[in-house]
Amino acid sequence: MNEYLLEARGLTKEFPAAGKKTVHAVSDVSLRIREGETLGLVGESGCGKSTLGCLMIRMLSPNSGEVLFRGQSVTGMTDKEFHPLRREMQLVFQDPYASLDPRMTVRDLIAEPIETWRLCKSRREVTDRVRQLLRAVGVPEEFLYRYPHQFSGGQRQRIGIARAIAAEPSFIVCDEPVSALDVSVQNQILNLLKELKTSRKLTYLFISHDLSVVRYLSDRVCVMFLGKVCEIGPTEEVYNHPRHPYTRFLLDAVPLPDPSLKGKEIRLLRGDPPSPANPPSGCRFRTRCPYAKERCGLEEPALREISGAQTACHFAEDLKSL
Ligand code: SF4
Repeated sequence: MNEYLLEARGLTKEFPAAGKKTVHAVSDVSLRIREGETLGLVGESGCGKSTLGCLMIRMLSPNSGEVLFRGQSVTGMTDKEFHPLRREMQLVFQDPYASLDPRMTVRDLIAEPIETWRLCKSRREVTDRVRQLLRAVGVPEEFLYRYPHQFSGGQRQRIGIARAIAAEPSFIVCDEPVSALDVSVQNQILNLLKELKTSRKLTYLFISHDLSVVRYLSDRVCVMFLGKVCEIGPTEEVYNHPRHPYTRFLLDAVPLPDPSLKGKEIRLLRGDPPSPANPPSGCRFRTRCPYAKERCGLEEPALREISGAQTACHFAEDLKSL
């Protein structure tokens, strides 16, 4: 059996931009996600996280590279060939309100994927399944015939999650699923996603700009900067021993409740991020990196294994002690 549920090989996605420019959203990204794991994907907004998420579930086609699902390349499949696999890959959106048709009742919203994939035999069976799903995500069953605007943000996200799991998927891309919610509601939704992952044997790609949220949920974490992976590894290894300067900066920017860390120097990133339409030569982080040397502009650093994680920095070993 294939150990990896999903595999990205050299994925590149470019978009045309104004002035005949090209936005390099995702550049030559390779990664693998094991069955049953949660891979956290972090980085500043515009670094290509959501584009990569859409590429992984074939909601976008890459300019080059491929995605394998259970060892089978889905990139070159026709829509008909891909159809049975579409059910297995679902997406939970940041803004559930925008993704829920306001004219549909909760019953019909959740019934839609069940009917599309013919998972039940009769209308009554579909309604029973919708009731089960509402119970599973913590929405009272009596709200079955209400409309999205009659729910709070947290409840709408629960309905969005019910819609995603209604298709009985094995892989879900969660794209900033809690960033539009209050902190107290965020924790409830994160706990729900964690519980569903175990009870339904799900695999997640969990996209967030919030490092503490990613740490709570992820087995491994992947840090992206300007369309490239700069560090990937087991979550605790990356958080406790970040090798890449960009990962260090991201972690330094997280407010830390630990009093022993009070007064700890916060290293701030210089300048604005470079434009993805005109990325720097060599290492894409070099215009913001205080450790950049001549080699960084000449040669692109490849991901290399250091103490269980992979880091794309020419000088990661030298920077270990800094
Ligand atoms: Fe900084 Fe150079 Fe490492 Fe890039 S390769 S992170 S510029 S030291």
